[in-house]
Amino acid sequence: MGPNQISVLVPSSSDEAVAAFGDGTDVTVVAGGTIVMPEVAAGRLRPKSALLLGRAGLAGITRASGKVTIGAATPVSELAETDAPLAQAAAHVGDIEVRSQATVGGNVCAESSEDTPRGDLQAALLALGATVRSAGKGGERSEPLEDFLADGTGRLVLDVSYDDAPRQAGYAAVWRPHSHHYTILAVAAARRDGELRVAATGVAPRAVLIDPDDPLAGLEPRDDALASTWYRTQLLPRLVARALAQLEEAG
Ligand SMILES: Cc1cc2nc3c(=O)[nH]c(=O)nc-3n(C[C@H](O)[C@H](O)[C@H](O)COP(=O)(O)OP(=O)(O)OC[C@H]3O[C@@H](n4cnc5c(N)ncnc54)[C@H](O)[C@@H]3O)c2cc1C
Repeated sequence: MGPNQISVLVPSSSDEAVAAFGDGTDVTVVAGGTIVMPEVAAGRLRPKSALLLGRAGLAGITRASGKVTIGAATPVSELAETDAPLAQAAAHVGDIEVRSQATVGGNVCAESSEDTPRGDLQAALLALGATVRSAGKGGERSEPLEDFLADGTGRLVLDVSYDDAPRQAGYAAVWRPHSHHYTILAVAAARRDGELRVAATGVAPRAVLIDPDDPLAGLEPRDDALASTWYRTQLLPRLVARALAQLEEAG
């Protein structure tokens, strides 16, 4: 294979995808491609090996054994049939064109760029206490999303899941309403069995769990083309208050 050639892997099952991914060395996963493909087109990313997930059987949402499980290749647009605050977060991702193409796994693995925040679903999934199942170095493993996000990337996400149980939830976000928009800042909250989890996206490179009594503790919100650190610092406590008010209203 020449230096400018890319090997394109198109697995037709999750087992094949896991085998093709191996330990992830030199493999670029392409799911919806809404982040990867512009990078390739601009020449900033030159994959040696591209693993296309579209036919790997990793899409779909199931409710079984007390869990909601969402395959990594599930389009963001299909999350409307999930639960608060995930369904609301999904509805705010880009526009219908982006949501139809973008996947859950791509969002969970997304890191914000210099210009724009990404990973809106991460905050909602953190609030839901979601678990990520992934494959790669050391084999398959399942771990809380916060551990996966802290550990970085380099693994193949197979699915995300959370308890299929009644809970109160709230979601508050700010964005500029136009086509192809990005969410500037968002807060997702969920309470179940007295445990309150609150998370924010648009603050740091990936979503973070926050203390609702002191939302800015240990955080200096990002500064980018959409909003300044000052603006986000003013906004975050207000969005937390809004999300929590919604959660209380929910019952
Ligand atoms: C116009 C526009 C508007 C947007 N607005 C928003 C927004 O409002 N909110 C938001 O959160 N995002 C937004 N995005 C960013 C992006 O569309 C989403 O984050 C989307 O969910 C990414 O999913 P994807 O499948 O397209 O990812 P891809 O581009 O396929 O992949 C993204 C990254 O994740 C990796 N990856 C993908 N799937 C897996 C997997 N299963 N396992 C391991 N690694 C994987 C890829 O290698 C790559 O590093 C926007 C993008 C555009 C172009």
